[in-house]
Amino acid sequence: ALYQTPDVPKPRYVRVNTLKMDVDSAVLELGKQFVVQKDDLVPDLLILPPGCDLHDHPLIVNGCVFLQGKASSMVAAALAPKPGWKVLDACSAPGNKTVHLAALMKGKGKIVACELNKERVRRLKDTIKLSGAASIFINSLNQPEDIEVLHGDFLNLDPKDPAYSEVRAILLDPSCSGSGTAAERLDHLLPSHASGDVHIHLLFGHTADPTEMERLNKLSAFQKKALRHALSFPGVERVVYSTCSIHQVENEDVIKSVLPIAMSFGFQLATSFPQWNCRGLPVFEGSEHLLRTDPVEDKEGFFIALFVKGNIIDRSKN
Ligand code: SAM
Repeated sequence: ALYQTPDVPKPRYVRVNTLKMDVDSAVLELGKQFVVQKDDLVPDLLILPPGCDLHDHPLIVNGCVFLQGKASSMVAAALAPKPGWKVLDACSAPGNKTVHLAALMKGKGKIVACELNKERVRRLKDTIKLSGAASIFINSLNQPEDIEVLHGDFLNLDPKDPAYSEVRAILLDPSCSGSGTAAERLDHLLPSHASGDVHIHLLFGHTADPTEMERLNKLSAFQKKALRHALSFPGVERVVYSTCSIHQVENEDVIKSVLPIAMSFGFQLATSFPQWNCRGLPVFEGSEHLLRTDPVEDKEGFFIALFVKGNIIDRSKN
């Protein structure tokens, strides 16, 4: 192999589902078996030792705790929806981020979770059920209000439909190549002559394979379309775009391409998690607002862009 990830064991991250259990109780319970630390960046995220098998743990089985990586948990936290808001999760199955949004909103407000694939809608509904969100979400009149699952194409939702006029935040985590979650297999992306700083090749996600390039271009075209669509909902103040891809074409290039239209709608790029060092690739002015996780150092290559309308207030730290 041209490249192998360093042999440093990856810690196990779990997110406490605060709709069902508070963080200190989860620390106490998991602490009976494991050494548990709180993550210093993402609220409600716990760090457990590498290799610990949690799949059958009662807290996982009963939905008090979700197996969710750090990078993945940063996405909903970057959107930072407030309790009581109406939020749209545009591409939502299997629903890990949907239920994270529900927890951040403390079960108050409304979430519309859209998903195109019928099989995956089933998984989304199972995740929502496990999280307990569907049974406790309440509206401003204190009446129960389910998370609404929409089986359909996000691109077909009409931004002018009054049903969406009160949507204040959109999470867009569209289909992507997934290249950032396969760090141990990344050597197939490298040109055969790759030498020197292999790490740089990985960060840019360069590929020499024309079939792969065609696939990435198709994904990128969809991602741009979906992001433009998300930004066109008139009541929306915050939009997060995320991928688990390392490819510039699915990340910085998507943002660069929609930025003019985003600005025409009154959006600006904002810096999520300013204390995080790994930012967007420096391929356009403003890319320092973007966030990347490093497929080597962080073991997963994620990408997060946050668009904010009006005054920029970073709430991801609270
Ligand atoms: N956010 C999810 C989570 O954290 O569990 C993962 C989302 S996954 C990366 C992308 C999802 O978008 C897939 O389930 C895919 O079927 C769905 N999807 C793709 N195109 C879509 C579209 N046009 N409208 C709605 N959903 C779509």
